[in-house]
Amino acid sequence: MNKADRRFMEEGIKTLHTFNSTPDQPGNTRYIFTDADMKAREYLKSLIEEAGLELYEDGIGNIFGVLRGEDRSLAPVWTGSHFDTVINGGMYDGVVGSLGAIESLKLIKESGEKHLRDIVAVLFTSEESGRYGIGCLGSHFITGELGFEDTKRIKDDEGISLYDTMTSRGYGKDFEKIAKKKGDIFAFLELHIEQGPILEKQGIPIGIVTGITAPSYISVSIKGEQRHAGSTPMNARKDSMCAFAEIVLELEAYAKSLGHPNFCATVGKVNVSPNASNVIPGEVRFTIDLRGIEAEPKDKMTENIIKFFDYLEAKRGVKIEYHIDANDKPMFSDEKLVDLVEGVCLDKKLPYLKMNSGAYHDSLMMAKLCPMAMVFVPSRDGISHDPGEYTSMEEILEGVDVLCESVLRAANLKKL
Ligand SMILES: [Zn+2]
Repeated sequence: MNKADRRFMEEGIKTLHTFNSTPDQPGNTRYIFTDADMKAREYLKSLIEEAGLELYEDGIGNIFGVLRGEDRSLAPVWTGSHFDTVINGGMYDGVVGSLGAIESLKLIKESGEKHLRDIVAVLFTSEESGRYGIGCLGSHFITGELGFEDTKRIKDDEGISLYDTMTSRGYGKDFEKIAKKKGDIFAFLELHIEQGPILEKQGIPIGIVTGITAPSYISVSIKGEQRHAGSTPMNARKDSMCAFAEIVLELEAYAKSLGHPNFCATVGKVNVSPNASNVIPGEVRFTIDLRGIEAEPKDKMTENIIKFFDYLEAKRGVKIEYHIDANDKPMFSDEKLVDLVEGVCLDKKLPYLKMNSGAYHDSLMMAKLCPMAMVFVPSRDGISHDPGEYTSMEEILEGVDVLCESVLRAANLKKL
């Protein structure tokens, strides 16, 4: 087997970085079905065709490249990642695993190595939640948790439905073929940047993910009384902003009290109304993002904050409404697939670390359908979702080599 092609990966990363909706700002913004996203799609499809793989897309725009195996009656091995970005994001998140999947199939094809199973590179539509507020959009359709009717309901900030954007871009056909069921896919492997500091700090080139934390999203509205900032005495206020501040600090304190790096609480999006310096805010609307590596403590975080809402309503006379928008379950990698990747690292004499993923990925969805494992490469200073995201080419190529060999071995197994 040849080693991963530096030029292919380098050029791919640089080229995808030119498909950017915000070229005048730092970093890269590439949301689903924007012009930038469509150009990235064209480019990735051209790479799949140039590699001599069978190209197809599904109705929601997940892109596939297939390398045929010897026994087409067997379920295929899938590998891939996403190619969209957050707003002003970096060059590597998702892109490394998408290009790494195509490169792995290319290497296997060029090597002439035999494999029983088909190997499929899958490039997922919209893993980031930036436009439609739902993470892992493409893979949610693959698990069947989202379907055609949902596309009419799901809208962006401008009120444009997913149905309208996908049909305007020529997608939306053959939706019944998107969802897969258990047994349709033999195994799924994803290469991704770590997006945290652990591998770099320990000087280890490869992470093997054993578990993926899952998010809960809660939207909250606090209604108080909009009043004059000068003539309303401090003891006569129902200040929604002060209630908000208490909630943020309660979330922080509770998540910290769990004392585990994979339990986190974040308030990242806030709207204050009327948002004027001399007016006591009448309403604060915001989102809560909770993450956890175990379902029960994560659910307890939710329960705790909802109890705190009751306490604050009584204490401050405000009205708090909330909606739990998502409550995903953490998932664990398949132990035998982790062993397989570990074996590849040992054979390549590459140090590795078994670790949890604090970020979620399409792998979290795929784990509902088939055995899953992930390969991580280091992120400089642990930075991600930021223009400062960086992983050296040496580290990326080592990751692709591990992915490629792991995929090939999986594709030659009759069973795990
Ligand atoms: Zn990602």
